[in-house]
Order: sequence, then C-alpha cells, then structure tokens
Amino acid sequence: MIYDYIVVGSGVGGSLSASLLSKKNRVLLLEGTHYFGGCSGTFVKDKISFNAGATTFNGLKPDMPVGELIEKAGINLENIEEINPTITVIDGEKIIRRYKELDKFLQQLNCGYPHKNHRKFYEKVLEVNKIFYSHKQKSFDLSSITGVAKTIRSLTPLGLKLKKEFLANSLDYLKEYYPDIDEDYLNYLDNQARIVAQAKVKDISFLTLALALGYTFYDNYNVKGGIGEVFNTLLENVETVKNEKVIDVSKEKDLFVVKSKKNSYKSKKVILNSTVFNSDYVSLDKAKDYYQKKKEAFKISQGACVVYLGIRLEGDYNHHYQILEKQNFSNCISNSIFVSIPSKNDKKMVVDGVYGVTISTHTDINFWNCETQEEYEKKKDVLEKEIIDSFCKGLEVKKDKIEFSYLGTPRTFERFTSRQSVGGIGITMKNTKIDYPSSVTYEKGLYNIGDTVFAGQGWPGVAIGVKNLMGILGEEL
Ligand SMILES: Cc1cc2nc3c(=O)[nH]c(=O)nc-3n(C[C@H](O)[C@H](O)[C@H](O)COP(=O)(O)OP(=O)(O)OC[C@H]3O[C@@H](n4cnc5c(N)ncnc54)[C@H](O)[C@@H]3O)c2cc1C
Repeated sequence: MIYDYIVVGSGVGGSLSASLLSKKNRVLLLEGTHYFGGCSGTFVKDKISFNAGATTFNGLKPDMPVGELIEKAGINLENIEEINPTITVIDGEKIIRRYKELDKFLQQLNCGYPHKNHRKFYEKVLEVNKIFYSHKQKSFDLSSITGVAKTIRSLTPLGLKLKKEFLANSLDYLKEYYPDIDEDYLNYLDNQARIVAQAKVKDISFLTLALALGYTFYDNYNVKGGIGEVFNTLLENVETVKNEKVIDVSKEKDLFVVKSKKNSYKSKKVILNSTVFNSDYVSLDKAKDYYQKKKEAFKISQGACVVYLGIRLEGDYNHHYQILEKQNFSNCISNSIFVSIPSKNDKKMVVDGVYGVTISTHTDINFWNCETQEEYEKKKDVLEKEIIDSFCKGLEVKKDKIEFSYLGTPRTFERFTSRQSVGGIGITMKNTKIDYPSSVTYEKGLYNIGDTVFAGQGWPGVAIGVKNLMGILGEEL
C-alpha cells in the first residue's frame, strides 16, 4: 500500500493534520509510544488517568483556530465542560480568579494588586486579541519566492495593525499603563506570561503578552477522562499504529520510505510531528541540514517537571490553580506551580476517591543531565517534596491524603514523547526571527508540524500552524 501521507507522531499537530487530511487522502499515522497526544496526551498509572502535560483546552468556537479545524474535520467532541474561572492564582494571601468576564476579573485583580489603570490595560489586551484572531489568513513559508510573497501578503495587514504591539518590549509597553509597576504585580504577570509564552515579560513583545493574558477571556474547557480523549475522537477515522517509533525516513525514487524497528511503509509525502530539534533520525541530507541549522539558530533548553499525584480530596475545587512562591523551585527556572484537578465525577481521573492531580513547573533540561543516577534521584526527591509542600500549603490540603506521587523530568518526557524540551520555542523578541522554523523543510514532500514550527505552542498556536500547513500542501479545508 502506498499512502498519500504518513504522519509521524500523534501530538496536537500530527493528530489535527491526520484528521483533516484523511477526509480526502490515504493517511497513516505512526505513534512511537502507547498513547496518543504527546505532551497533550493522557496516560494511565495505578488505574488512574493522568494528563501528561497540557490540561487546558481552549478556543473551540468556530472563529478560533482550534474550533475552526475541529469543525472542518467534522469532529464532535464529547466529555468537555466549560470552566470559569480558567485559573485561580494564589500569591500568598492574595487570591485572583481569572474569570472570563472582564468586570468580574478586574474586581479580583483590584483586590490582589489594586491599580487605577487595570481596566484601560485589559481593554487593550482584549483589543489586541480581537485583531489577532479576526485576521484569519496567517501564512508562513519562507522556502520559496511564492511562499515568501504569500507570507508577506498574508501577514502585512496584521503587522500594520499591530506594529507597535509586535515591536514594543512588554515591559516598556506596560510602563505606559503602570508607570509605577508594583513588584508583586510584575511577578504575577511574569508567571502568567511564562505558562503561555515560555518567557518572562521583559523578554517578550507586547503582542505575545497580550495573547498570553487574553486566553482566559475566551472559552476554556476541562476534558473529562483527560485531555487525551480528544485525540481518540480526532483519530477515530484515521489508520493508526501505536508503539511504532520511526527510526528512519529515506527515499526510493519519488516515494518516501518510513521505517520503524519492525516495519517499513511507503508514502508520497511525510509529515513529522517530532520537533525540528529531534527529527534528525531522517536520513535525507537536505532535511538533516535544515534541522541542524534550526538547532544552531534556536538554542532551546526549556523543559518541564511534573508531579503526578494520587490524592484523596474533599470539598470543591476549581480545575486550575497557579501557586506563586517567593523563590524558584530547586533545579527549576520558575517560582510557580500549575495545578490541575479533575472533576469530582470524572470516572477515569478519580478512582475510588483518589484524584489524579498534575502539578507542573518550568525547568532547564540541562539541570537534569546528572553524572550519576543517585544524583538524579536526589534532585528529583528534593523537587518533588518542594512541589508537594507548595501544593498542600497553597490549597490547604493535608499531606496524609496523598496516596502516591511520581515526578516526571525532561528525561521522562524524552522517554514518552521523544523530546526533552517541551512547550515549543519561547516566543521571545530574540526568537521572533526571520528564520523561525516553518513547516517546510528543504526536502520536497517532507514537512514538520507541532509547537516548534510556526505559529508556536499550545493548542491554539499549533492549530494555526496546521492551517498554514494545509495551505502549503494545497489541501482544501
Ligand atoms: C507541562 C506542560 C503543560 C502544558 N499545558 C498546556 C495547556 O494547558 N494548554 C495548552 O494548550 N498547551 C499546553 N502545553 C503545551 C502543549 O502541550 C504543546 O505545545 C503541544 O501539545 C505540542 O504538540 P505537538 O504537536 O508539538 O506534539 P508533541 O506533544 O510534541 O507530540 C509529538 C508526538 O510525536 C511522537 N513522536 C515523536 N517522534 C516520533 C517518532 N520518531 N516516531 C513516532 N512517533 C514520534 C511523540 O511520541 C508524541 O506523541 C503544555 C506543555 C507541557 C509540557
């Protein structure tokens, strides 16, 4: 059998692409591990379903990137429930619920970090989001003259509308609204920016900050059974093979030959959902050269550590909390944790009264390259304890309610998702370069999709990239 497309990897990018392409093409998706979804997947441990990384699913209205593609793929998602507030931020005594409604949110913010200009500032944030998302055509392909022309044609109108916001450093922009910016409020903003843009306020443009602050004003969801359920639905009508790690992609005449340890498949085109920094298993010189160049241009070392916690909870909780501490966690680059708690009546994530809770924070993958296993385990123990202490204190939960816990590090992510650095390329001003990776490699017929190619990370960023890829492939949506 010769496929039209082989998609390597079932992350957000691979699964959305495979789902859309399979409507008119013969598509095969090969996934290296035992579950779909990569960093946005769900796995089962001790009978309880845990989200591997991502927990918030958002923007499902058809005028938003994810919603548009899900509608085009003809997918009907069940088991999703809208959440509001999206996050509850706990900063010492301060509690700020990030409600969808501006007035309700401002009330919360003014209790935590009072300021007379909050309304003016967040109205600007909303205006920038509206302009960004209402501009539908975002093409990015710098591999050919036609691609460059299309990129300029599609992005120039947006660039003109948001020129100042794209060029201005966030910290400078903020000072127009908050000349006397309070340290605690800046720390709050830094942590909001970090979870979306993988960078602090001082390193990003105001456009990035506005998008990072804006998503809670849109529709956000909890997925019952875990966010991985979305992939089972997305891939319902796609031919897939799990536990099929691809170790080589080569060419025989005009066809690609995609090999795992067990099998060999042929196709006309190949889409890799591995990152541009982890795709050099491909033995095609032009592609290898492309990946090498991107590795050199973007030195990415940001990763995540996640505690998967089985705990007996009583009472009512929101789905997501961010707990801010004064200092960074050990071997981490962040002073906050992001906590996700399933719904009480979620039968897969809450088993016999034990909740599958995930708690994540940002790290540098280099911190975990230890000389000995003993050193690695020791670092893990220290961090796990700090994260659990912060969680228990912040949410006033007794430690004796914990049934079990595991800490995942960048090394764990590599084992399950074939990547150590997660969350994509930080959208810093330094990284917003003309050579930002696009889906097009130098090898004709070979493409990449996911959070390390345009437009970036998270469900919305990767969905924009998938729409761009469909345009490059000439596939009608
Ligand atoms: C801790 C954490 C929390 C996050 N929270 C959120 C959130 O709440 N909301 C949100 O929108 N985003 C969140 N993100 C970001 C989001 O998870 C990612 O940006 C997104 O899932 C990346 O999708 P991707 O398409 O790049 O695929 P990836 O997630 O990288 O998946 C790639 C897939 O390809 C497979 N693969 C790789 N190489 C091979 C190979 N050689 N052969 C076969 N298969 C292969 C992998 O096994 C994997 O399944 C979070 C990320 C992390 C790490």
